[in-house]
Amino acid sequence: MENLRTLAAELCDLHHVMALMQWDQEVMLPVRGSAERAQQFATMSGIIHRKEVDPALGELISKAEFRGDSLSVIDLALVRKMRRNFDQSTKLPEEFVVEFSTLTSQALPVWVAARKNNDFASFAPLLTKMVAMSRQQADYLGYEEEPYDALLDLYEEGLTAARVRECFDALREPLRKMIAQVGSGHGGDDGVGEPFIVEEQIRFADQLLAKIGFDFERGRQDRSAHPFSTGLGGCDQRVTNRYNPQSIEFIFSALHEGGHALYEQNVGVDLARTPLASGVSLGIHESQSRLWENIIGRSAPFWQHCFSSLRESFPAQFGNLALGDFMKIINGVHPGLIRVEADELSYNLHVLIRFELETALLDGSLQVADLPAAWNERYRDYLGVTVPSDSDGVLQDIHWAHGSFGYFPTYTIGNLASAQIWHAYCLFDLDHEATIAHGDFGKIRQWLSQQIYQHGSVYPPHELLLRVTGEELNPDYFLRYLEKKFL
Ligand code: ZN
Repeated sequence: MENLRTLAAELCDLHHVMALMQWDQEVMLPVRGSAERAQQFATMSGIIHRKEVDPALGELISKAEFRGDSLSVIDLALVRKMRRNFDQSTKLPEEFVVEFSTLTSQALPVWVAARKNNDFASFAPLLTKMVAMSRQQADYLGYEEEPYDALLDLYEEGLTAARVRECFDALREPLRKMIAQVGSGHGGDDGVGEPFIVEEQIRFADQLLAKIGFDFERGRQDRSAHPFSTGLGGCDQRVTNRYNPQSIEFIFSALHEGGHALYEQNVGVDLARTPLASGVSLGIHESQSRLWENIIGRSAPFWQHCFSSLRESFPAQFGNLALGDFMKIINGVHPGLIRVEADELSYNLHVLIRFELETALLDGSLQVADLPAAWNERYRDYLGVTVPSDSDGVLQDIHWAHGSFGYFPTYTIGNLASAQIWHAYCLFDLDHEATIAHGDFGKIRQWLSQQIYQHGSVYPPHELLLRVTGEELNPDYFLRYLEKKFL
């Protein structure tokens, strides 16, 4: 175990160095530094890959597995996690990995240009290759029921297409009904009269992060083209935001990335420098960002607490606005074309469409050439919108150009889990609305830390959810949350 821990710590450090290089690329890198940075990434990836597939590491893992019963809970989890990583790295032949990453780096700029020029045909041949290679990747990784399961498992351990289908079957009709009932255009738009001053937006975003408990001695907030959150170590969590002088989106981006960061900042110190010292899966991670962004951050009690400081910070924008009107603005329902701009009611229908299409691409029942038409038909059917161009349609997301098939469902898993976890919190704190209205976020954070954050990746995602909420993932909680809020 000691030797295994040493290797785990070394790999952990190397991954954090890579994360630092990535953060730097998004936040700091001068324009002409990107070519050398690409070479540095290739060198580092090679070093890490060789260490990850080292047969000596495999032998140590096998020996530790043999000792199974005598290991502590944490050591057992460490061995399980290292086995999972080792298998994922060794099941793919090296030439496949190189070919796949070459395809990805070819596809990305083509996708960027195709989106810009509304030219799906130029991207189609590469996407066709990407589908074929993803299918091959699934075969290398292995699966029990269907190839898509192998890809899902990369992002959400143990999740299957069958389970995702069940969840979407439970959501599809109720969501469409609710959207019809609430009516399109419910609430105002988020346009602000007077433009914001960016420095003041940054100051307010910092204040919000501090309010929910982001520790600035163990993290920072910076600017980037797209908001993200990354960990460079147990005591170094980075979040970023973007600031449009015309939009209040920065408030919810701060809470979203802040939610991701709170998870990471509260992982138990006993897990430091191991692969367990991080959130367990994309879905559970997203449940935490969505919980702080939407369930807490778009709730009336939250703004009972924060509205006066918002008005003080931005008198020109909000000085004459009533709290009730502000609540309508931030909870507007506008079924539209773009996933990342979607409201809470329609968001998961966007994910559902992607899930249906990518499973069909992978099982061969849909050809890439027919993808735009299939996309547009579903947007009309599920969201009632006409897609004017592929740029605002099938070309809008980076995921497929990236080769990330199986990633989209984790967004919906996150939304469903956030409501289920919040329900468990509300049973613990019957005065939860007062807790939020008084700004007692420490109470919520403490409970989440005890239940979720401190465990890092010790428990697989489904087991963690079962421990916290007493049941498997159940879409009812999310539907009930939406009904209560919007109907
Ligand atoms: Zn997120």
